[in-house]
Amino acid sequence: MSTKKNSNDTTSEKVQTTRKRVGKYELGRTLGEGSFAKVKFAKNVETGECVAIKILDRDQVLRNKNPIAQIQPSSFGLRVMASKTKIYIVIEYVSGGKLFDKIATRGRLKEDEARSYFQQLINAVDFCHGTDVFHRDLKHENLLLDPNGVLKISDFGLSVFSQQVREDGLLHTACGTPNYVAPEVLKDQGYDVRASDIWSCGVIVFVLMAGYLPFDEPKLICLYKKITKADFTCPYFTTGARKLLQHILDPDPLTENLVTERKVRPVSMNAFVLISSSQSFSLDNLSEKQMSESERQGLAKRETSFVSQCPPNEIISKIEEAAKPLGFNVDKRNYKMKLKGDKRGRKGQLSVATEVFEVAPFVHMVEFRKTGADTLEFHKFYKNFSSGLNDIIWKTDGIAEEKEKYVTIKSI
Ligand code: ADP
Ligand code: MG
Repeated sequence: MSTKKNSNDTTSEKVQTTRKRVGKYELGRTLGEGSFAKVKFAKNVETGECVAIKILDRDQVLRNKNPIAQIQPSSFGLRVMASKTKIYIVIEYVSGGKLFDKIATRGRLKEDEARSYFQQLINAVDFCHGTDVFHRDLKHENLLLDPNGVLKISDFGLSVFSQQVREDGLLHTACGTPNYVAPEVLKDQGYDVRASDIWSCGVIVFVLMAGYLPFDEPKLICLYKKITKADFTCPYFTTGARKLLQHILDPDPLTENLVTERKVRPVSMNAFVLISSSQSFSLDNLSEKQMSESERQGLAKRETSFVSQCPPNEIISKIEEAAKPLGFNVDKRNYKMKLKGDKRGRKGQLSVATEVFEVAPFVHMVEFRKTGADTLEFHKFYKNFSSGLNDIIWKTDGIAEEKEKYVTIKSI
């Protein structure tokens, strides 16, 4: 199997005196540039480990606070760092080049070779789906090869970067055209992310075997029509391959024979919002309008939060356990709770709304908002109450400020 040697292997990464450092990483050459991120080679100065670092504009990420934005890299042991203007995501350095380069230089693949990549692709997607991590932007640009020709999928769980913009009712993705996007995503009527990731795998395997896209039209509206009708033709594929593609590229996701049992889970919160709301940075970027200092303080007083590494159910029961002895009634609804005091205070009964958000699979942020009564009483209550939550609150190193003004969320 050909393993495209990258012109820029580690030996050419000789340290230059002016090299930029991000935390422990020394930045090297640019590996590639997508529409929203630059990817640079980097070396851990302590361990010598070679990595790739994805660099994003912090403002741009925050502007793109779409509800599906998510970053869930914890299952892959990634590190996220942020400076005042940039967000850095440390990812595994994959040195074998892009799978697509193989097709670009050698043409379409034989079915056996395409099958081997498809199996690796489905295995990886299945593994990630099993941990509730979805891709949402599976496309050839995200399929890389390691030096042994093993497939590596990049950008899993990083869909916050695949900015998708709707104009004229049509979906525009970061790459310009949604060639890999499933019909139900285009229709925007609520869809199953698992099934839509699988659709993209179907488009990928078609490209591997044909050497061109199944749906490709210069005009977006025509492309949109073709995708929604799953209007594609298999050229010289074997019957087995045709059948497989007809099953995967089925315009009705409900007839796709996928088990899609849904668990109720906490709402996921974009880790960038968490980084940005860290006290070392100003909150200005988060609000549409500028808040005055006093308004900001007022907001901080009525709301507070902590980060926990415990499972959400444990967080909920610990909150319940801590609130009851303080004379609070607890009304639970999934990952939201209402705590109501039984005593009348200065401005009536104290009531607090709380919600658990998922930041990453093992990192939850728990928000407390005063919904009634006096702010001072809320403060007293929280002080008292949070001392009962000591064993679930993630302390200090949750968001630790490092030298050089980089913030690292460890193991997110
Ligand atoms: P896109 O996925 O849209 O191409 P990205 O910002 O994810 O944009 O990546 C830009 C380019 O950087 C990729 O096309 C690839 O060539 C390179 N790249 C991305 N991730 C890695 C990685 N982990 N190792 C090596 N090169 C990478
Ligand atoms: Mg990518």
